[in-house]
Amino acid sequence: MIGLISATSAGAAARDRLAAAWPERTRVYEGPVGDAVRAAFAECEQLVCFLATGAVVRLVAPLLGDKSSDPGVVCVDEGGRFAVSLVGGHGGGANELAREVGELLGAEPVVTTATDAVGLPGLDTLGFPVEGDVAAVSRALLDGEPVAFKADFTWPLPALKVTEEGDYSVRLTDRLAEATEREVVLRPPSLVVGVGASKGAPVDEVLGLIEGVLRDAGLSAASVAELATVDAKSEEAGIVGAAQRLGVPLVTYSAAELASVEVPNPSDAPLAAVGTPSVAEAAALVRGGELLVPKRKSERADGLPAMATCAVVRRPARGRLAVVGLGPGARDLLTPRAKAELRRASVLVGLDQYVDQIRDLLRPGTRILESGLGAEEERARTAVAQAREGQAVALIGSGDAGVYAMASPALAEASDDIDVIGVPGVTAALAAAALLGAPLGHDHVSISLSDLHTPWEVIERRVRAAAEADIVVTFYNPRSRGRDWQLPKALAILAGHREPTTPVGVVRNASRPDESSRLTSLGSLDPATVDMMTVVTVGNTATRDIAGRMVTPRGYRWQTAEEGAR
Ligand code: SAH
Repeated sequence: MIGLISATSAGAAARDRLAAAWPERTRVYEGPVGDAVRAAFAECEQLVCFLATGAVVRLVAPLLGDKSSDPGVVCVDEGGRFAVSLVGGHGGGANELAREVGELLGAEPVVTTATDAVGLPGLDTLGFPVEGDVAAVSRALLDGEPVAFKADFTWPLPALKVTEEGDYSVRLTDRLAEATEREVVLRPPSLVVGVGASKGAPVDEVLGLIEGVLRDAGLSAASVAELATVDAKSEEAGIVGAAQRLGVPLVTYSAAELASVEVPNPSDAPLAAVGTPSVAEAAALVRGGELLVPKRKSERADGLPAMATCAVVRRPARGRLAVVGLGPGARDLLTPRAKAELRRASVLVGLDQYVDQIRDLLRPGTRILESGLGAEEERARTAVAQAREGQAVALIGSGDAGVYAMASPALAEASDDIDVIGVPGVTAALAAAALLGAPLGHDHVSISLSDLHTPWEVIERRVRAAAEADIVVTFYNPRSRGRDWQLPKALAILAGHREPTTPVGVVRNASRPDESSRLTSLGSLDPATVDMMTVVTVGNTATRDIAGRMVTPRGYRWQTAEEGAR
């Protein structure tokens, strides 16, 4: 039983929500909180107190005995923002309770015991079927007990902190295998069932064949990702119905594509009917994989010719490459989505200094492949190669990972056999603009002054075009020790088309601890004050310094009208 204790009306409201959700598990203790806590502590296995942690600490301190037998205590604050596991995190189940309460009330669970603080992916949130004792194994993972991980093949899972041996286990398989006690079986969508059927084949015959074939081969229907057949059969009721009853999509391929797949058991019948010597085997194999069950025909009790065929393939795992922008530096400019992707990955690839920036966010067990400046090509290759092996990879970059960063070299290497997930980040130009005011209120470009990978003539042509078109320009990579003449040169080109009074914003280390930002002008900027940690934003002919802020007007009519009226 979970004892519920509250003092204020806000607390009582949250308490009542819990009580209503869990009528069987909870009991409300009314009256003075001291008495209520003492009574609940004696009578319940767990307590949820809608009180300040300090108050609860004082109340339960004299009651504490042994951590193996004391109830677990969770505190929920007045605002319902946090569910704090206070006492009995493991033995008393308070960590798990804090998570449950948090989920129900929309509060953040606060868990401070060593292993739990890092968090783990919910085993049931991976997006595919899970069998077995999810609650017990999740709790063992949370409590830091050894959990063995056994995988029949690679699949892009998040990092699970697991050992070879353990009382508990997580098994990744598409084979028929009952989860034993203290075990969770993960069912990745690894199987493709190729299906052929003659016109009018009954659903029961098609489905019966598929289920029988899977059973005989010792494979789980829960791992079937899709049924596959030839275009001409895309509306064949028996196949469509079987896919529906299995709860999987039906995908179809052209006869020509299927005819090009090499199969062990081609035959003349489908060639005559739909124009490919194989439907079931070819449709299962067309995207690659291992043929687990060659073509089988249905058996009919009435002795009539079989109307359905099927074959089963285990397809290679599609790896997952998340290209994640970390933002300019500050943790609160790292998006929640970026954070989620970092925790979704089991392999992290990035520049060492960026890895340091987010190391604390990674799940224990995440494999970190870091390298130094200049190893861009290697990072791009590594990230793609890992994803092609079926891993869940996060490739990180500062700002936005697609802006002068890793996304383009990585995707230039990547083939269509991996999934790519892009997570945008706050790029330096935007972080700087926010500090400067509103310099990007009208058309703007970013230009990198690094001529390491781009010939200077190309850079200069683009600067010139921006100058002529009166576009606001943000220079990335403006100046380094060995590269000092490019910025003055670029500024001179802009000065050919803009007044010396044109505002220029110089922002160094935006959102980092030693952030600095200043507003100067084209005529007075000293390039020597600029380095590689800096972006330089040059206004257009309309940009103004207004109250110390850099503002590029959009030319709104209402503003012009106002000016006209003045
Ligand atoms: N992908 C990054 C840019 C990488 S190029 C992004 O989207 O921001 C590296 C250049 O970006 C640096 O030379 C500097 O000009 C600029 N830069 C990156 N982070 C910055 C920051 N926090 N403050 C100012 N400039 C920054």
